[in-house]
Amino acid sequence: MNTKQDNEVQEKYVIPGDKIATTEEYLAGKNTTESGGDILSAVYGTVYFDEANLTVSVINSKKKISAKVGDVVYGQVTKIDRGNAVLNISAIYQTDKGLVPFNKEAMLRLPRPNGRGDDQMSGLAIGDLVRGKISRTGRSLEVSMFGKHFGVLKTLCHRCRNPMVLKDGGLYCDNCERTESRKIADDYGSVMVFGDVNEGK
Ligand SMILES: [Zn+2]
Repeated sequence: MNTKQDNEVQEKYVIPGDKIATTEEYLAGKNTTESGGDILSAVYGTVYFDEANLTVSVINSKKKISAKVGDVVYGQVTKIDRGNAVLNISAIYQTDKGLVPFNKEAMLRLPRPNGRGDDQMSGLAIGDLVRGKISRTGRSLEVSMFGKHFGVLKTLCHRCRNPMVLKDGGLYCDNCERTESRKIADDYGSVMVFGDVNEGK
């Protein structure tokens, strides 16, 4: 039954500066640097130990990632213009790869604001940290925030730049004693692990 012959590949995800081995154990390979007997990662990626040549490298997974519809992404709103927002994606979550860096701009689709359009699109503001879901790929990416697990994860008060807290289902600034309206994710204010997103359907 058990015919598994693949090498036990242990995916270890590192960020620049992470110690991945010592120079006594391995030679520094691709995308690594040495510092005082340690081998550090120079990039975001996955550690690869070449036991035959005793080198350790970091595979920069950035190039291999292509966004698929349904992937969960994290990013920051950089622009809002006439009912469209631009999301600067910084990480993407894929079931088989986990959370990996991914830098790309996407169009962020929003629930249509009710009534007249304001400058500030209802439910979103520039600078908001957002969890979204890829809704379209191709020439340009589109991200939606539909579903309770998707939306704003962190936002600052428009007036004083304090982080806004959840109060009575809305967002409130303790400092200015004012509220703002956002399309927030269901774990606003208690997002502990960024990769903890897979139940978002
Ligand atoms: Zn404030």
